[in-house]
Amino acid sequence: MPSEFDIIRRYFTRPVKRALLGVGDDCALMAIQAGMVMAVSTDMLVEDRHFFSGADAALLGHKALAVNLSDLAAMGAAPRYATLALALPDADEGWLAQFAQGFFTLADAFGVELVGGDTTRGPRNISITVMGEVPPELALRRDGAKAGDDVWVSGCTGDAALGLAHLAGRVRLEDAALAYCLARLHAPSPRVALGLALRGLASGAIDVSDGLAADVGHIGERSGLAVELRYADLPRSPALMACADDQLVRECLLAGGDDYELAFTAAPDARARVAALAGVAGLLLTRVGSVSIGEARQVCVRDADGKTMKIDSKGFDHFGS
Ligand code: ADP
Ligand code: MG
Repeated sequence: MPSEFDIIRRYFTRPVKRALLGVGDDCALMAIQAGMVMAVSTDMLVEDRHFFSGADAALLGHKALAVNLSDLAAMGAAPRYATLALALPDADEGWLAQFAQGFFTLADAFGVELVGGDTTRGPRNISITVMGEVPPELALRRDGAKAGDDVWVSGCTGDAALGLAHLAGRVRLEDAALAYCLARLHAPSPRVALGLALRGLASGAIDVSDGLAADVGHIGERSGLAVELRYADLPRSPALMACADDQLVRECLLAGGDDYELAFTAAPDARARVAALAGVAGLLLTRVGSVSIGEARQVCVRDADGKTMKIDSKGFDHFGS
């Protein structure tokens, strides 16, 4: 049985380039570039809540870091460092090797250095803190939206939730659609390049982790403005378009969660510049709504006829017609 220290040394100690000091001391040491501030965010994944027991360890390593990098992307921050707090029921070296491989493959792709953490026995739990750099005046905050701004979303929402609905037996997806949706669910791609490109262009931003409507609602709340989404304009993947269950499609698009796309606001005179970013980021960018003076309480979703779609107070599980 490897000890706690064997685990840290074997699986989580790697040379650092940017940090002054990484894993192995009481603290890591990092300098911040002149003119930058540190953007810091933590996300925890808990077994049986965020992932099934028996979930693929490499995919978990990827996803645990990806969901954190998504927060940096939503802030317009460049990823730099991470710490990893791990609770494990046992020292399963096969699991550790796979987990580390998934984690470091994504970390390397985004230039993230693992500089510390904690390792303990307990119910499986993965808590990652990421640190990134951003010039303070260019950080993409939730409270920066202005009345009259457009609401944009990257990629498509609802695919991860559609994959989950298949796993729950609610829908039966074709093989190709299932493979696509499960990749969206288990291996999200954090929109870091888009976040960086939106510096100075977006007025507000958030990453879509809890469902599009709820998350754009947070921009409204923090900015003190009303947000409206046009249901017919929401981008849909081929997998979602092939789904005949309209109720499920609505739930997935608006409330699915686990999308890890960026939703952001930008002034109408920035439309052409935002649209041009689609090519740079290799991503669909779609204008899906607007922000106006009004009560920030709940996002208003309008159907193709301009009628307000009825929304359950608990979220978007039940819709009127
Ligand atoms: P302390 O007793 O000071 O908390 P630990 O013995 O827990 O230190 O950890 C020793 C070193 O290993 C520290 O530098 C810590 O940041 C690092 N570390 C522990 N667990 C991990 C992990 N899962 N990933 C990365 N670094 C880790
Ligand atoms: Mg410790």
